[in-house]
Amino acid sequence: MSKQKIIQSVKGMHDILPPDQPHWKHIYKKVSGLFEDYGYEKIDTPILEPADLFLRSIGEATDIVEKEMYTFKTRGGDELALRPENTASVVRAYLENGMNVWPHPVKLWYWGPMFRHDQPQAGRYRQFHQFGVEAFGDESSAADAEVIYMALLFLEGLGFKNLVLKINSIGDANCRPQFIKAFKDFFKSRNKKLCAQCKLRLKTNVLRILDCKEIICREIFKEAPQFLDFLDENCRDHFKKVIEFLDEIKAPYMLDPYLVRGLDYYTNTVFEIALEETPPLAVAEEKPDDKEKSKEQPVSTGLTLVAGGRYNKLVNLLGGPVTPAVGWAAGVERLVAAMKNFNLRIPESKSQPKIFLAQLGDFAKRKSLVLFEEFRRNGIKAGTSLGRDSIKAQLRIANRLNVKFTLIIGHKEAIDKTVILREMDSGIQEVIPMEGIIEAVKKRLKS
Ligand code: ATP
Ligand code: MG
Repeated sequence: MSKQKIIQSVKGMHDILPPDQPHWKHIYKKVSGLFEDYGYEKIDTPILEPADLFLRSIGEATDIVEKEMYTFKTRGGDELALRPENTASVVRAYLENGMNVWPHPVKLWYWGPMFRHDQPQAGRYRQFHQFGVEAFGDESSAADAEVIYMALLFLEGLGFKNLVLKINSIGDANCRPQFIKAFKDFFKSRNKKLCAQCKLRLKTNVLRILDCKEIICREIFKEAPQFLDFLDENCRDHFKKVIEFLDEIKAPYMLDPYLVRGLDYYTNTVFEIALEETPPLAVAEEKPDDKEKSKEQPVSTGLTLVAGGRYNKLVNLLGGPVTPAVGWAAGVERLVAAMKNFNLRIPESKSQPKIFLAQLGDFAKRKSLVLFEEFRRNGIKAGTSLGRDSIKAQLRIANRLNVKFTLIIGHKEAIDKTVILREMDSGIQEVIPMEGIIEAVKKRLKS
């Protein structure tokens, strides 16, 4: 053994190993197909952005900006950030590339890694992946309902049942100030009971109290004023219509008067989709040499898979014209974990080999390599292990791969231009000419 210590991955960051790849591939395939059906076009934006993009959009007094963002200064002196989410980046790209003059609605979707210095725990990582949609230019309630419907469709398409859609409206610039005042007054009188963080939130960004995961604070805000009582006519009407659409599509929704999002740019509709019953997720492992002490774990508020809402102010806030927009993001790691916990099946991988090529000796290996490529070109995936010399070892691999046939080429067969075809279940072998082998194997695979 080498004396060198094995380097470990960064805390909260994970490798996505081969056994997990089929789940990732399946989810990607499902969502990309659905988004395309609904007229969404894919966009990829850089992982690094000017830090200012997130400071301006997400809001300074938010968990993400205050505690969770990875920011650094480049050699040239620029302040950059690893993106903690993608909506701000998509809006930046939308404006920078003149998409605001495209015929609207402009509908975009994305998929990629995000970075947040969160406290690692079940379903919470420091590098995680999100995919999501952003629809620009449609202010109607139908647009909110459509994106919500899409989220439900894809979750149902993955096989999830017992989905709960929590929904609320947080009003807009016209009616929110009245609500905030009432809300502040309510908490001021209960200031002493709040957690330290919420005492601060009361001064900086009072709505963030609703995002708190401490039980003591959650108990207090059960009696707090509700957004819905403060909505003006426009916002009330918008929300009512969204609900009517959800009734129409029989979506399993629940009005949650205290739902807010952890980001400042939302207006009107906010929503989350979670699983009704959440089986325990595998807890993220603490690294043994971890110097950072893990803090007390926050209360689990259920496993939110998808979160989103309307953000009519963001495009304008980032320097563009006033543009209505609505979207959501889903966490891939949480989806994969939940799929496994609920034993949701994914289709068998097409990349599984159908046959195995075994060979003995250098001459046979050369023939086998050519044959492998010929099979591949004809759409038949073959397994092979050119490094092995023992036929027994190769047959063991073939067995593990669960192939129907193994094609054995020894020195004699290579010279005679023949192949031994072994049916794995019965062990019956026959010698067949190499010429026309593709057709012969195709025929046998079909029968
Ligand atoms: P929370 O309140 O649980 O921290 P959030 O408001 O930060 O959630 P969003 O920013 O709305 O979450 O992200 C949308 C989705 O992305 C979440 O519902 C979740 O599936 C996923 N997600 C967010 N943060 C993480 C993380 N640290 N690790 C894994 N997935 C995450
Ligand atoms: Mg968070």
